[in-house]
Amino acid sequence: MSTDTTMTLGEWPVQTEGARRFLATPDRRMLIGAEWVDALSGDRLETLNPATGELLATIPAGDAADVDRAVAIAREAFEQGPWRSMLPAERARLLWKVADLIEAHLDELAELETLDQGKPLWVAKYAEIPGAIEQFRYFAGAATKLEGSTIDPSINYQPPGKKLFAYTRKEPIGVVGAIVPWNSPLVLTAMKIAPALAAGCTMVLKPAEDTSLTALRLAELMLEAGIPPGVLNVVTGLGEKAGAALAAHPDVNKVAFTGSTEVGKLILGAARGNLKKVTLELGGKSPVIVLNDADLEHAIPGAANAIFFNAGQVCVAGSRLYVQRKIFDQVIEGVAAQAKSIKLGHGLDPSTQMGPLVSRKQAERVAGYIRAGAAEGAQIMSGGAEGLGPAGTFIAPTLLSGVRPDMTVVREEIFGPVVVATPFDEPEEAVALANDTEYGLAASVWTESLSSAHRLAADIKAGTVWINSHSMYDASLPIGGVKQSGWGRDSGHQAVDNYLETKTVCAVI
Ligand code: NAD
Repeated sequence: MSTDTTMTLGEWPVQTEGARRFLATPDRRMLIGAEWVDALSGDRLETLNPATGELLATIPAGDAADVDRAVAIAREAFEQGPWRSMLPAERARLLWKVADLIEAHLDELAELETLDQGKPLWVAKYAEIPGAIEQFRYFAGAATKLEGSTIDPSINYQPPGKKLFAYTRKEPIGVVGAIVPWNSPLVLTAMKIAPALAAGCTMVLKPAEDTSLTALRLAELMLEAGIPPGVLNVVTGLGEKAGAALAAHPDVNKVAFTGSTEVGKLILGAARGNLKKVTLELGGKSPVIVLNDADLEHAIPGAANAIFFNAGQVCVAGSRLYVQRKIFDQVIEGVAAQAKSIKLGHGLDPSTQMGPLVSRKQAERVAGYIRAGAAEGAQIMSGGAEGLGPAGTFIAPTLLSGVRPDMTVVREEIFGPVVVATPFDEPEEAVALANDTEYGLAASVWTESLSSAHRLAADIKAGTVWINSHSMYDASLPIGGVKQSGWGRDSGHQAVDNYLETKTVCAVI
């Protein structure tokens, strides 16, 4: 263990009755139509508690055959089912009811998320499950506000005495395939389901193989809420099998993907066959820029939190720290001190501030980056490359300084608790450094100058720029990237358009 790091694990029995009941049937099934089924192959995947390495449950290892079955049911539910033809207010009422049921089961879902993903319970309970609830409430409101427009065309060859009347209708795009990652499983799932269902679409969801449990529990709650069977189907399984089959399926009209840039490119290739619509929420290497005049009492913990929250497994994590030269030493010493004070532990331990990474594989990947950074000459100011804990899944919060723009740790998304720090002289230089990346997901600027803040916000190439804050999410705030961080936006009222087609009706009357 790194000498600076405090870590206790202990025994943490399951606390909620709901989570106990769910885990008492550890061989979970997936939902196709109204049926809870195994994969046709009968194959299963293990899902582990990353803090301890213990087996939590097994899930079906779905593949192309299961995806075929689920897409056929989703198609039938779309064409013949009541979902898209029911009154929008009724769809809204059912989505609101899903939110109420998630809220009623908040403690249970938060605990399942913590056990499955590793994050501290307080993160799941106060940030992520509430975030999922808000997605359903926000987009419940969208169901009754799907509006086209009326248009006066200027076509000059209509028959004499006739007039033209044209309007647009917003219609659901059809069957949606949603593929989501493991870092914030339930809230990212809700970000796909809520707008797609508000639009009147039906869906097949492929959760991440490491963290499928809350998606399966959500599917139970959605049936309980009265969402008609077939509207939401869940196929668990590996990305390269179930995910790839869903992305390539000829009867899926749209794929909504959140995950890495690398897999996002594969999704695009797979979607080509039937030219399905695609939205991509991908990776990032988000800069945190601290100017000389920043309020360091907030900026230092803010910069630490920007990277170490959820053990850095956040798409918008502030993984590149740029600090104006006069305050550089003070800021990086402050962030390193914050890093050293973070207590690692089991997510159910209320004193835990940072949990493990989602899997040993991810911890090894992150450790590899830290080693590569050190080998290229970076100095380790806190943390290190050692995989801690019984399963080797904990990585201590790590700050690297003395880095160069061409280093791998500066260029690639690490997706762990690792930040690289670089000084700059003038704000223009900070913008150039911030934009020197293939990514463009998010950024934050820390300054007391209104004018510097808004100038930098305009000049940084990113989908979101926060000022004197980082990682502020809300169902009302569009989130997504420019450059190789993706296509389109989740959240915000425009997100429902991801799941709608515009039909033009033009009449001679
Ligand atoms: P990943 O791309 O490896 O996997 C994401 C999902 O895609 C999983 O469900 C996986 O099973 C599936 N998948 C894998 N290979 C596939 C294939 N060939 N075809 C179809 N599906 C496939 O990503 P991850 O490691 O689970 O998550 C971390 C990544 O997600 C990071 O890059 C992070 O930045 C990104 N992310 C982005 C956002 C955002 O809003 N932009 C949010 C969260 C995470």
